[in-house]
Amino acid sequence: MVFKPKLAFVTKQLELIKKQDLYRTLRYGTINGAYTVVNGKKLLNLSSNDYLGIPPTKLQLQQLQSSSRLVSGNDPSFRILEKKLAKHKSQEECLIFPTGYMANLGCISATVSKNDLILSDELNHASIIDACKLTNAKTVVFKHNNIDDLEEKVKRKGKRKFIVSEGIFSMDGDFAELPEITKIAERNNAITILDDAHGDFVVGKDGKGTADFFEVSKKIDVYVSSLSKALGSFGGYVVSQKNIIELCINRSKSFIYTSALPSTLVSYSIQRFDSNREKFRKKLQKNVRHIIHGLKSIGYQFESKTHIIPIIIGNEKEALDFGRYLYTKGIFAQPIRFPTVRRGQARIRLSVTAWLCKNQIEKALRVFELAAKKFSIV
Ligand code: PMP
Repeated sequence: MVFKPKLAFVTKQLELIKKQDLYRTLRYGTINGAYTVVNGKKLLNLSSNDYLGIPPTKLQLQQLQSSSRLVSGNDPSFRILEKKLAKHKSQEECLIFPTGYMANLGCISATVSKNDLILSDELNHASIIDACKLTNAKTVVFKHNNIDDLEEKVKRKGKRKFIVSEGIFSMDGDFAELPEITKIAERNNAITILDDAHGDFVVGKDGKGTADFFEVSKKIDVYVSSLSKALGSFGGYVVSQKNIIELCINRSKSFIYTSALPSTLVSYSIQRFDSNREKFRKKLQKNVRHIIHGLKSIGYQFESKTHIIPIIIGNEKEALDFGRYLYTKGIFAQPIRFPTVRRGQARIRLSVTAWLCKNQIEKALRVFELAAKKFSIV
């Protein structure tokens, strides 16, 4: 991996942690009753939180690792999945968190310090907003995907500068302007953090995500994603160069002070990751083209070119009525209102999946045609 001078501070911080004998590393162990097996050695487990020790039934199959990953909750399956995810993003290392929300909290709070400057897109997810608050750094919000605004605001003072954006925005379905954002980052020596929860496994070669789609993967310093979107599993992860991941292990409270993701879910993610994702990805892209073309032919207007399509209604009550109407016609599509989106920007958020077949999409389009007339949307 290329040495990035702007990330040299991470190694320095790790050295400080080591000097104080506070450095933490992960050890893998498989729990079996009162024992855990670490590196082939069977050890009596006096580090479990499974206080009642209720034996799992045959159906429950596996005993969960009810402990933090740094204590005794680190099943070897984590390593397998982390290696796959690091390779998937062409990065050195990966760290799985219990959720994507916690991955954002953990990696942003671990890497950003008090005197730094964070530039955050105004439509970034709540977990990024909360993460920025945890850092005590100066957070400057730039207008959504507005490169001029970012260019101006990135000039503000900060010991180190971080630019944080989603890859595909969760409520608008539009792509972040990553080619421009990464150029600004380069010019200003800023560290880029990309939350690609909605682009991961969907866009880019082999579903590598939004940065790959724009061919700027090498310019992203830290990736955050969720296993609970396109992969249909559960959990969150961070991938980056090795020292960033080490810093997350040592500093992320949402990693250190919480129980590990159950290993059954890790195994489930491995199976989903290893499945024929490409087949489903192609089907999804086909469905997306079908729905976008159909909705536009009816007269709906939106910018999105992705599987997340916002039908902006504006008024909150009308969005609720629209949602109810869809429901009565057999369509489930949630109205999204403040505070998830701005007041007066209420919308029906459609998310397209590869589950849908041609006939089902056509049925949905017929309902949307009726709805457009009923609500005078187009
Ligand atoms: N980031 C974004 C952009 C999201 O939309 C979400 C989930 N809505 C998350 C992070 C959190 O992911 P998870 O559900 O795995 O906590």
